[in-house]
Amino acid sequence: MRENEFLSWIASRSRFDAAKVPVGPGDDMAVVAFGGERLLTAVDQALDGVHFDLANHGPRAAGRKAMARNLSDVAAMAALPVGAVASVALPKGMSQADAQEIYLGLRDVGDEFSCPLVGGDVSMWDQRLAISVTIFARPAGVTSGIDPVLRSGARAGNAIFVTGALGGAWRTGRHLTFQPRVREAIVLAMRYKLRAMIDVSDGLAMDLHRLCRASGVGADILAAAVPVHPDAVAGRNIAPLEAALGDGEDYELLFTVPRGQAKRLEGDDKIPLPVTRIGTITKNPDVVLIQPGGSRQPLPETGWEHKG
Ligand SMILES: [Mg+2]
Repeated sequence: MRENEFLSWIASRSRFDAAKVPVGPGDDMAVVAFGGERLLTAVDQALDGVHFDLANHGPRAAGRKAMARNLSDVAAMAALPVGAVASVALPKGMSQADAQEIYLGLRDVGDEFSCPLVGGDVSMWDQRLAISVTIFARPAGVTSGIDPVLRSGARAGNAIFVTGALGGAWRTGRHLTFQPRVREAIVLAMRYKLRAMIDVSDGLAMDLHRLCRASGVGADILAAAVPVHPDAVAGRNIAPLEAALGDGEDYELLFTVPRGQAKRLEGDDKIPLPVTRIGTITKNPDVVLIQPGGSRQPLPETGWEHKG
């Protein structure tokens, strides 16, 4: 089973009244109409052996990551977290102290973002630890006019930006300690017209493909412009650029703005983290990587494989 195919199969079969469900499956969060307001919601799971390694990372970090991944989806919509509920399947034999650590990991990062853990469910089974978090958020713009930013709003000519730097997050543990870009997303949305946005959880290449597919566009990406994290470089046998494009677990923001706003954003010292312009949205639906010499090659969804 391919995750992307399965998700688009679901999206193609979902039927909603757009007045009641303005945004259904297929974005970082769904948006439902709610008594004259809009409620955003999403669910995300963190599994031992997939998203963390309990034996190495410990229960506190596991809990933190489960909540932080969800907060990153809130950031991807430029929304404000409201609260979360968690469902946890504990391995039989886990100590009370370790179970408490999971809770504290969830709660502490939730509290940092005014997102209290307001309920949940605990079971025990003879498998590995599984944590599922459902998060709720609201549009940030009751006063500031910020609407949720979708994946589908990118248009040809938009400038493509990414926050921070990418690559190497898993091997250095950054995937456990990252700061969800909730505040930064709202600052960006207040100062710029964000046309489309997604958080980089599965790698720049894959998440860029998702954004382009949702928007019905393509992209020209300048290889030399992709911000490569120092973690991506040391002691590996793959090219740093390949790591930046394919590793994932960065939880940075990938977004587009109208061409006319790109210059101002590049020099804007009011943005509380580095943002880098990496390319341009194209009408042609291909996602293309442009090498420094000018050669163009398709950027596969799985990331770019360095050859020689
Ligand atoms: Mg996401």
